Amino acid sequence: MSLSDTLSQERRARLAAERLLELKQAELFEANRKLSKHARSLSDEIIIKREETEVLRDENIRTKEDLEKANVAVHIAERRLWDSIETIQDGFAVFDPSDIMIAANPAYLRIFDGLDDVRPGISYPEIVRLAVEEGIIDVGDLTREAFIEQAVGRWHAPVREPQTVRLWNNQFVKLVDRRSSDGDMVSLGLNITSTIRYEDRLKKARTKAEAANRAKSAFLANMSHEIRTPMNGMVGMADLLAETDLNDEQSLYVETIKSSGEALLSLINDVLDYSKIEASKLSLHPEVFDLERCIQDVMVLLQPSAAQKGVDLIIDYDMFMPTNFIGDPGRMRQVLTNLVGNAVKFTHTGHVIVRVVGLPDDEGKRQRVHVSVEDSGIGIAPDMIEHIFGEFNQVEGAHNRKFEGTGLGLAITRQLVQLMGGEIWVDSEEGVGSCFGFHITMDVVEEAKHLTLPSWMHKAALVDHINANSLILEKQLTALGFEVSPFASAEELLTSPLDAQVYLIDNKLPNTDIAKVIATLRVRGVTAPVLLMTSGPTSADRLDIEDATSLQKPLLRADLWRTLSALIPVEPDEVQKTEGRRMRILAAEDNKTNQLVFGKMLKSLDIELRFANNGREAVELYQGFQPDLIFMDISMPEVDGKEATRQIRALEIDTGTHLTIVALTAHAMAGDEQEILAAGLDHYMTKPLRKAAIIDRILQELPQGCRPILPEEPAQVLAGE
Ligand code: ADP
Repeated sequence: MSLSDTLSQERRARLAAERLLELKQAELFEANRKLSKHARSLSDEIIIKREETEVLRDENIRTKEDLEKANVAVHIAERRLWDSIETIQDGFAVFDPSDIMIAANPAYLRIFDGLDDVRPGISYPEIVRLAVEEGIIDVGDLTREAFIEQAVGRWHAPVREPQTVRLWNNQFVKLVDRRSSDGDMVSLGLNITSTIRYEDRLKKARTKAEAANRAKSAFLANMSHEIRTPMNGMVGMADLLAETDLNDEQSLYVETIKSSGEALLSLINDVLDYSKIEASKLSLHPEVFDLERCIQDVMVLLQPSAAQKGVDLIIDYDMFMPTNFIGDPGRMRQVLTNLVGNAVKFTHTGHVIVRVVGLPDDEGKRQRVHVSVEDSGIGIAPDMIEHIFGEFNQVEGAHNRKFEGTGLGLAITRQLVQLMGGEIWVDSEEGVGSCFGFHITMDVVEEAKHLTLPSWMHKAALVDHINANSLILEKQLTALGFEVSPFASAEELLTSPLDAQVYLIDNKLPNTDIAKVIATLRVRGVTAPVLLMTSGPTSADRLDIEDATSLQKPLLRADLWRTLSALIPVEPDEVQKTEGRRMRILAAEDNKTNQLVFGKMLKSLDIELRFANNGREAVELYQGFQPDLIFMDISMPEVDGKEATRQIRALEIDTGTHLTIVALTAHAMAGDEQEILAAGLDHYMTKPLRKAAIIDRILQELPQGCRPILPEEPAQVLAGE
């Protein structure tokens, strides 16, 4: 090879080497650049990590401080809790889930005073065993083993009732144990010694009081009985004496003795009954009795006082209910008398309805009988409802002050109903009325009979102005198979087709002359029988309407059926003429004895006499009864005689009439007469009244068209004067 080739070869080699060097230098540069970049990012990371480490350190320090504070707080709370638990008088202990005591307060440990083993670490069954064996717990009637078994069994039971144990020193501890959610058992031992002692004392005092109360009631029962015997003698003898020949003054004395005696007797009867019930000496005497008749008997007895006020007594006895039951009729009558008597007493206008319904049991041998006594009286305030069933309790208030009574009636009634296995309740609204109800279950003696009527009876006309009465009677007649046409007045009846087979007419229709109504019916060719529904035992007879049959209210289903079945259609030629009505006299007098005396004086007269108990009633009766003459007492409660007269005179302005009103007064002072006459009264009579003077006055006022008031010669009637 030539030199130049060699040289050029070397130059080429050198050039290649220089290029390679350049390349390697460039690579080295690039590698250096990357290295320095990585070194920079590493140092950045180090800085961040360092900062993070510092934050963490700070946090760590804070957490440590917090933990320390929390530990201190927990410690304080634990100390306070134990301080409190240790100061309480009742025992407190905690056991772990395997029944080992973890902690207990001194009160708990004190029970086991002297037993060193009872401390944290001991198990519950061991505590019980030690307490029993050392005689700390009184095991009562159980053996020691039985007691331990029972106590440990209770401890392990899923639900534990508190248990009271008696300790050796006569202290009583109530054990209350509860398991917590993590299985620990918290046990409380409450010292209830003082409560037990107190209860014990109360029990003893109550037993003593009950014994004393029974002794008192027994004494009262005996005494009332002893008092009743001579009282009966007094009342009975006064009764007999009243039947003998007495002058007016003597009669008055005898009547006063009798009425005072009767009032006292009824009071004693109440006390006797109540004491008997209290002393558990009252027993029932069950027998077969007719419930419907029993109710009617009570209603008939109360009829006069209800009629005096114009209050209607109505019985609504379920048509499909039997009437014969097994029960104590005497006590049933007493319950009804109390309830119906109260209803009449506290009702001034309207009605008193006794409703009876029965719920038979499955076999129909017994009935749950519901009786309710509903009135439209003064009602009872809600807060008084329970009060009135208490002994000697009455509603005190302006409305009630004028009513007599002992406040024993309802207390006795409730006890009697309870004795009969029943319940009593009341529903009442002041100023609207009350409804007393009770239910008792009795054996039924016979099933209700299905009553049928004579075949000629289809239609009945019913005239009654009292809606409640009319509705009930309509129901009863419909159940008997009648088609009933009800009328509220005689005019309504007389303006309708007269095609009934029987006419049932109330004899107290307002402003209606019943005799005239019947005469009109007959004149218009009605031959069907007329049934007059009367309110008093005698008022039907007094009407003297031979052309009508009377039926006494409140109506008994059986009586209604019997009377209807016995009716025969009246033939036209049997129609009789009535010969004028009786003179109507109203006497306003608040004193019952005076009413009695007045009534007796006029007994022999053929008149219709009604009494008003005060001026308000007198004005009402002036409108309803339409008297021909009024005798007016001057001093009466509520509205006096002068005021009543003024009101009547005001009413007369509309009618243009003038009724004679005679003042009856005890006022005999000079000047009284002028004052009384100025009030609108026509005449003036001073008490004590003289029969002859009164009859004389009546004779002078006898209206035309009325019957004569004296059946005999006046001289004969007055002969006793
Ligand atoms: P008495 O009627 O002898 O006072 P009761 O025990 O029978 O005693 O009644 C207690 C009280 O209950 C009555 O005084 C009266 O205030 C109230 N009371 C009872 N029945 C009725 C009634 N039907 N309407 C309004 N108040 C009544």
